[in-house]
Amino acid sequence: MKQIAIRKHFSYFKTNSEEIQSNSFDEKLDQLDEELRAVFKKYGLEMVERQTQFLPIQKLSIFHCEQCNQLMVNRDMNPTKFDSNGLYDDLSYVVLDGGTHDGKNLCEECLPFAHRWGHYS
Ligand SMILES: [Zn+2]
Repeated sequence: MKQIAIRKHFSYFKTNSEEIQSNSFDEKLDQLDEELRAVFKKYGLEMVERQTQFLPIQKLSIFHCEQCNQLMVNRDMNPTKFDSNGLYDDLSYVVLDGGTHDGKNLCEECLPFAHRWGHYS
């Protein structure tokens, strides 16, 4: 039985409003896509689709976990995270939940079990 396997790859880069408005990253990203397409092809993969979404770091309370460096939303500061916007469903793999513990921003996996946003709480 033939099957097709669809694989997602996630990456991120930091930018600012000036760079977004001037499209200065577009050329660099086009070159990256071209190189990725060649690498994917080498392994028999077809790069079909990619999307770039821009998230306002301060507005959404996005930080790097101070223990493991994973991107996270501090849910103590932003309880609604991405406001259940369907466009952001996949981002839970990239931007974890997290919160504040002992004055530090920690992701859901580094927070203690008892913390409201701890992984298994
Ligand atoms: Zn962490």
